[in-house]
Amino acid sequence: MIVMKFGGTSVGNALRIREVVGIVKSQLGNGPIVVVSALGGITDTLIEMGKQAASGKDVSVMLDQIVKRHYDAIDELKLERKIIAPEVEQLGKLVGDIFMLAELSPRNLDKLMSFGERMSARIVAACMRSYGLDGEAYDAYDIGMITTSNFGDADMTSYTYQRIRKALAGKNCIPVITGFLGKSKEGEITTLGRGGSDYTASIVGAAVGAKEIQIWTDVNGIMTADPKIVKSARSIDEVSYKEATELAMLGAKVLHPKTILPAVENNIPVRILNTFNPSHRGTLVLNSVGAGSRITSITYKKHIMAISISSTGKVDSREFLRRVLEVFERNGVPVDLVSNSKIGVSVTIDERDEGPKLMAELQAIGKVEAKSNRARVSLVGNDLLYMPDILQDMYTSLKSIEIEMVSSSVSKKNKSVVIAEKYADKAVKRLHTTFFSR
Ligand code: ADP
Ligand code: ASP
Ligand code: MG
Repeated sequence: MIVMKFGGTSVGNALRIREVVGIVKSQLGNGPIVVVSALGGITDTLIEMGKQAASGKDVSVMLDQIVKRHYDAIDELKLERKIIAPEVEQLGKLVGDIFMLAELSPRNLDKLMSFGERMSARIVAACMRSYGLDGEAYDAYDIGMITTSNFGDADMTSYTYQRIRKALAGKNCIPVITGFLGKSKEGEITTLGRGGSDYTASIVGAAVGAKEIQIWTDVNGIMTADPKIVKSARSIDEVSYKEATELAMLGAKVLHPKTILPAVENNIPVRILNTFNPSHRGTLVLNSVGAGSRITSITYKKHIMAISISSTGKVDSREFLRRVLEVFERNGVPVDLVSNSKIGVSVTIDERDEGPKLMAELQAIGKVEAKSNRARVSLVGNDLLYMPDILQDMYTSLKSIEIEMVSSSVSKKNKSVVIAEKYADKAVKRLHTTFFSR
């Protein structure tokens, strides 16, 4: 068996969906299980519609547009609109409820987002049937994806693998499973975090003991940089599980950060492939790739905030770092980079996590200086510790761009700098030229 996951652009319209069916058809002999994302852009639009409805705006036009996107695909594929009729009805009702409540709770947000994958899975499965393949749509939670109940960032629970394995055992069809979605034990729909369909694919792959997990996307695999920024970025034939995880954690959107774990635990190769160029070999992610030092890729993360807290003597210097980090923990704000010195500590967080309570608590400990609109740019690779000139080369390449913070990972897998966000693309390009064009 293999798992084939198709992302948003890969199922973006009727033409793309036909391509997907063709790709699945070409691998029938491998026993495909398909996982799909929502049609490209739909999750963002659903979120926006939810926010607007909660703020009292009339969202009927937006709702019509979302439904029309799906109907257009259905009509072009010569399928019947009724295959998504229950979802269209429920979506309309939920939006009405959100409007009445004047609030978009995390629970309703997850429920709202779920319609994207629920509609796409039904369309893809029906399209398969129209081409003579036995596609059958399944909502992930109906085949065992029971998760924790933290909406927006839910995770699988114990026995998820067993439940999925049991649910899929003996099915002779090609299951087309909704990515991204689960249900809590209480029966509420949850989501696995943005981009989470990759994670669904690897969970399903681990559950059934797949021979391979294929992540079909819109680029030729994992590349030396985001090709949207660096036109000359190249795809990388093979990366290790560890490199792939580091890349994903540091912002390379091509893979959801949690994807690799289920694959590692079960030693299943993950292959990243391009639906727009299916014959390209893409990137194979496996356990061990020729060891040794190498730089794999340049990644970046925008929308971060750098916060410096300097000691004013209010808190014992031996307790300072702990007290600062406790504030972030108490407020449930994940800290990304940390740079510590005797006089203070600097950290970076996701800009969206900032709040008045967090700031007030930090101000009670020391003098706080916060800068938003920052970006982290990272060199990711293997055994970077043994490449002594790397930081020097990084500095030289970034020259006039002010480096506000530097961090080297203990895992020896990345070197990161924090800079003003407006320079992020330029920095990624320059680093790519320095490290990949020589
Ligand atoms: P999907 O909808 O298929 O899940 P995503 O948009 O989530 O696709 O991820 C693919 C995108 O990731 C690419 O279009 C590319 O712009 C971006 N990306 C960022 N960093 C990298 C990288 N190092 N290699 C490949 N793609 C990258
Ligand atoms: N549709 C979801 C998102 O846009 C999940 C995914 O595409 O992986 O985040
Ligand atoms: Mg994705």
